[in-house]
Amino acid sequence: MTPRILVAGGGIAGLTAAIALHRRGFAVDVVEQAPAFGAVGAGIGIQANAMAVLRALDIPLPADDVVPIGEFHMVDPKGRRLMGGDPREMQADPPSMNVHRADLHRALLDAAEGIPLAAGRAVSGLTVEADGVEVRFDDGSRGRWDLVIGADGAHSAVRRALLGDDGARLRYAGQTCWRFALEAPDLVPDLSIEQWTPGKRAGVMPLARGRIYVYLVESAPPGTPGPGTDRPEVLRAHFRGAHPLVDAILDRLDPGVPIHHGDLGEAEAIHFGRGRVVLIGDAAHAMTPNMGQGAGTAIEDAGELAVLMTERGGDVAALAEALDERRRARVAYISRMAWRLGRMAHWTHPVAVALRNLLLRLTPQSVMNRQTVAMWAPGIELAERIRRTAGEV
Ligand SMILES: Cc1cc2nc3c(=O)[nH]c(=O)nc-3n(C[C@H](O)[C@H](O)[C@H](O)COP(=O)(O)OP(=O)(O)OC[C@H]3O[C@@H](n4cnc5c(N)ncnc54)[C@H](O)[C@@H]3O)c2cc1C
Repeated sequence: MTPRILVAGGGIAGLTAAIALHRRGFAVDVVEQAPAFGAVGAGIGIQANAMAVLRALDIPLPADDVVPIGEFHMVDPKGRRLMGGDPREMQADPPSMNVHRADLHRALLDAAEGIPLAAGRAVSGLTVEADGVEVRFDDGSRGRWDLVIGADGAHSAVRRALLGDDGARLRYAGQTCWRFALEAPDLVPDLSIEQWTPGKRAGVMPLARGRIYVYLVESAPPGTPGPGTDRPEVLRAHFRGAHPLVDAILDRLDPGVPIHHGDLGEAEAIHFGRGRVVLIGDAAHAMTPNMGQGAGTAIEDAGELAVLMTERGGDVAALAEALDERRRARVAYISRMAWRLGRMAHWTHPVAVALRNLLLRLTPQSVMNRQTVAMWAPGIELAERIRRTAGEV
């Protein structure tokens, strides 16, 4: 019998998993707490490992929605290059891409056509039974599925229901972040820039159709920037004066541009769930964004889950443990690297900063490139397995 599957959360992880499983013949329902599966967020970089998985799953990103990630520079307060690279030199096919989150979401929704999606319905609890999972929703309704996939983000209700409050805790990185996308064709840079000043970072990335994605990060105790701090004048006060491009962009920022603000953190523990309740994406391993791989690893989780379901002929017994075995080492490595990079970027001690900068400048580009290719390799290998197992339910 084909298992009935509920995907909780219609974000990147949830929609990718739903599409992958639906196309392999599984019966999938998706619930999303937001009232509409609408346009959300600012920009995002999808690196070659995740692009390979999306292509293997036959989820196309329209060509006029994406720009290949080209040269990027990490620079010091004077604008001097500390490290960088150009992913195009690694010649991955497909290449890494920058995309507006709203465009990525629309591409996923297009690919999800035919899958029952219920918006405005949040999972509020669940009970695992011997032969199924009873799921409760915030509107008071209930339902029963053979497999529940918790893809409901860093504050996952599925994770909390399964592991309790202790098992769902996040660790604050001591950094808070603002993001926005601005349409300003005359300011779009040819390369991505991230400037490190003590205790702060400012990043600018080109997006398709004359838009720019900007992220601004500052060291701060938890919850410091209270309500109202996501106004352009506040960002100008905090970040003006470091980089001329950031200044020019901040000058253009008017109150009509949505600014997304949130504290950066990671899951205290990686957890892929138990038995027939599986966690993927941020629900399993929320990580700091410094490696640009949170969504990438979420997409990989979804692809690996589809491969496992195919290999097991739809048997959901101990599925979470099987996914854990395949994914834990990879996401632990990337989370760890992201955490370290984020801390190092915000160092304030002048001696430590000077040594760090020297070391970064001296690291050969070939070493950086080799590390990047090694980071992508497991995703590219997964894409191969996705292709090999397609249609074998
Ligand atoms: C500043 C920043 C920059 C980043 N940049 C990058 C990048 O360049 N590249 C990259 O790969 N990653 C990046 N990431 C990480 C990436 O955004 C996340 O890892 C990714 O969005 C995780 O996807 P997800 O689907 O697991 O979770 P989410 O995107 O959080 O989606 C979860 C979904 O579940 C829904 N939901 C929540 N609770 C419930 C419930 N109870 N019932 C039903 N639905 C529910 C939510 O509304 C949401 O739609 C960045 C993150 C940050 C903070």
